[in-house]
Amino acid sequence: MPKIPIFYSERLSSFDLGSGHPFKGSRFRYFIKLLETSGILQNCQLIPPIPATDEYLLLAHDAAYLEHIAKLRETQGWLTLDTPVTKGANNAQRLISGSAIQACNLLLEGEKIAHTFGGLHHAGRDYGEGFCHYNDVAIAARYLTEKKNLDRVMIVDTDAHQGNGTMDIFYDNPKVLFVSIHQDPRTLYPGKGFIWETGTGEGQGLTVNIPMPPFSSNDQYELALSTILEPIAKEFKPQFCIRNGGSDPFYADELTMLGLDYDGLFLVSNIVRDISLKTSGNLLDMMLSGYGNLVIYGWLAQFCGANNLNVDYKHFSPPPPFNSPPSSQEILNQATKSMLDSLIGELNQHWSCF
Ligand SMILES: [Zn+2]
Repeated sequence: MPKIPIFYSERLSSFDLGSGHPFKGSRFRYFIKLLETSGILQNCQLIPPIPATDEYLLLAHDAAYLEHIAKLRETQGWLTLDTPVTKGANNAQRLISGSAIQACNLLLEGEKIAHTFGGLHHAGRDYGEGFCHYNDVAIAARYLTEKKNLDRVMIVDTDAHQGNGTMDIFYDNPKVLFVSIHQDPRTLYPGKGFIWETGTGEGQGLTVNIPMPPFSSNDQYELALSTILEPIAKEFKPQFCIRNGGSDPFYADELTMLGLDYDGLFLVSNIVRDISLKTSGNLLDMMLSGYGNLVIYGWLAQFCGANNLNVDYKHFSPPPPFNSPPSSQEILNQATKSMLDSLIGELNQHWSCF
């Protein structure tokens, strides 16, 4: 059995945003340890990331923005109140961006699935926020379209927060389909990702936002992905798939209000895997997010789903702190169906599958 490539180095631990900040750089090391404990690591190949040079960062960002970041790095300044430009975090984000390029090359050479610790989707062309300095997702997609001449790249963003930076960068781009499933933006940062945000100019119809009602869980996610993502992906016929994952849609996450349990995180990853392998035949799977003590266990479920691994991931995870969301499944199903009907109403002028 071929080994699963994971781009990882101890140097990623420098991704630290200060004491009291919900993002901790230790998560990467703990996750690798968890892969070892659960017997999965022996089937993985750890590949050291190479920091992205400015040439690659410029694929997604303006030169003036890179200069701005460089100055903030020297003065330990802040992009926004929750996004300091510490040297450690900045170094780690260059590594993450570099690993995205390396993973693209590996997949173009014939590998089916590769993993990076990435998904810095809140950085736009000339701004950074939400813990993100550089947008590795956008850098990868632009690398594929600009340097490797691909015409159809699909990004599926399943992070609980909408990927505003990625959306903005590709909003008028005809070569990149961006599908984001996230918590209703009326209830969560960044407050973007409404159903009517569908792209502009040559990119019309190629931005697809699926805003899930708070506390949505496994069944609602399965319904939304089968109703929207599956038919769109089949019609778009991507040549390359990127998944911006992470475990913050987990119901015990400390920053969000969604309802996926470990099985739900497995399920979402497994659906994205299936759709990717049936369309482009490849998947660059990224994970980075998640807040609280259970992040790495959510990652484990996601990782197993993305690789279709028959591992009892719950055996290696602490028991969940509570079991059921405060909304009934019936109410959640109704709210989700209503949202999906409205979304199809926005999309059917661009997609024949609706
Ligand atoms: Zn997030």
